[in-house]
Amino acid sequence: RVKEAFDARFEDATTQDGHRIEVCANLGNTAHAADAVERGAEGVGLLRTEFVFMAHPDAPDLETQISEYSEAFDALGTTRPLVARTLDVGGDKPLDYWPVPQEDNPFLGLRGIRLALTKPDILETQIRALLMAAGDRPLRIMFPMVKDVAEFHAAKAIVDRVREDVQASDVQVGVMIEIPSCALLAPSLAPHVDFFSIGTNDLTQYTLAIDRGHSQLSSQADGLHPAVLRLIKMTVDAAHAEGRWVGVCGELASDAQAVPVLVGLGVDELSVAARQVALVKSRVRELTLADSKTLANQMLALPTSTAVRDALEAL
Ligand code: PEP
Ligand code: MG
Repeated sequence: RVKEAFDARFEDATTQDGHRIEVCANLGNTAHAADAVERGAEGVGLLRTEFVFMAHPDAPDLETQISEYSEAFDALGTTRPLVARTLDVGGDKPLDYWPVPQEDNPFLGLRGIRLALTKPDILETQIRALLMAAGDRPLRIMFPMVKDVAEFHAAKAIVDRVREDVQASDVQVGVMIEIPSCALLAPSLAPHVDFFSIGTNDLTQYTLAIDRGHSQLSSQADGLHPAVLRLIKMTVDAAHAEGRWVGVCGELASDAQAVPVLVGLGVDELSVAARQVALVKSRVRELTLADSKTLANQMLALPTSTAVRDALEAL
């Protein structure tokens, strides 16, 4: 099965009733983009850009960033999209050149877009570098840890400003859905964004109030919890009502039990570790959209993640 999946890695992931899902790779370093393409990725669905910022003692300058991002664009070619998440550090992931006051609850503190917006010049340089590296190639910019549309507008204004003097022809701007408020308010965000990408790792952590790295509790932080599934459904429904697309880039996207549920909830793109791309594509090809929708609706009605897992196990 693994070999069969690998051999078909360059083929589309289309369900038996003809519904295509885009399957992309998550990357923590642009040096791995070529390998992701070789493994069948149809694009990069999440570039964790932190690596550029962690690798240097000072904030990386424009040229350094252009050269890093260009490496990924060159590997992807002219048609495969690159979804770049802007810098997502803070609290638990400190940078030497960007001291953050000691916080009692770093996961609830200055992180993600909240932190980035305190130094808009750094965010602006990053966005400029992404746009310059992209040129006419498909770039999707997304902001992490957004809690509402006001934060999105503040970050998007920087993109709009930079686009006045940098030519890039194929750009979309979206938000990561990682905080429950954003899923609940998705109808107010959808008209303003080009896409949503659901970060199920953080969305699960914040929905269930379980630290994703907690030694005893993290196994309970299951993205198949029906509360998380309901937030995913709200997000997809709001996006589709406005003609926007939705990806999932958290760990849940590569969970074999979760794939039919996510397809059934209407997710358009799954972004997974490069080594999982072929397997996720082959999982999608086993499904029908019609049955997946029925399945998703059944899972939404269950009370716990254990009930969901047991029901999926029994299929
Ligand atoms: C997520 O939160 O699901 C996500 C994809 O972002 P990260 O794991 O980098 O926080
Ligand atoms: Mg996250």
